[in-house]
Amino acid sequence: MSAKAFLSLGSNLGDRKATLLAALDALDRGGARIIRRSSLYETAPVGKIDQPRFLNLVVEVATDLTPADLLALCQSVERDLGRVRKERWGPRTVDIDILLYDRLAIQTPSLTIPHPEMTRRRFVLVPLLEIAPDASLPDGRRLNAFLADVADQDVRRVED
Ligand code: ATP
Ligand code: CA
Ligand code: CA
Repeated sequence: MSAKAFLSLGSNLGDRKATLLAALDALDRGGARIIRRSSLYETAPVGKIDQPRFLNLVVEVATDLTPADLLALCQSVERDLGRVRKERWGPRTVDIDILLYDRLAIQTPSLTIPHPEMTRRRFVLVPLLEIAPDASLPDGRRLNAFLADVADQDVRRVED
């Protein structure tokens, strides 16, 4: 029985849409089979705000990879698509984060699941709830309950 996981992808450099679609293809070929993908959302940067707008999406994947191997896959796809890691939260061709992995809660130096910032990011919550309206955290809290707190963040659905 495969695990079900949700991944968040973002890009704010180069041909953002082409990069995101190439990343989905590479994830799928690497063993994170794409089950469902959200629309694309254009997002004003959070935190370090003097950089281009992001294009974001969320996917549900089915995978036989362990969480650690799924992280390694995400990082190898980032590398293959030319992400140059300069500064945390800075511009990047593609960033892939693991949001949820079944109902696991994991905390190691290199991997925290659920992603610790996911409930504070509208660019994560909105696309996730688009494809999984009933999604909840491992502790049972429903994710749609967090939307009200992030209503001020600028996230717009764009045509795919
Ligand atoms: P943020 O994690 O706040 O979104 P970021 O995506 O810019 O910031 P990165 O530089 O991409 O941060 O990653 C920093 C480290 O985060 C990675 O090396 C990875 O080991 C770790 N990490 C911990 N939990 C996760 C997770 N759930 N998904 C992806 N990376 C994670
Ligand atoms: Ca991130
Ligand atoms: Ca990341």
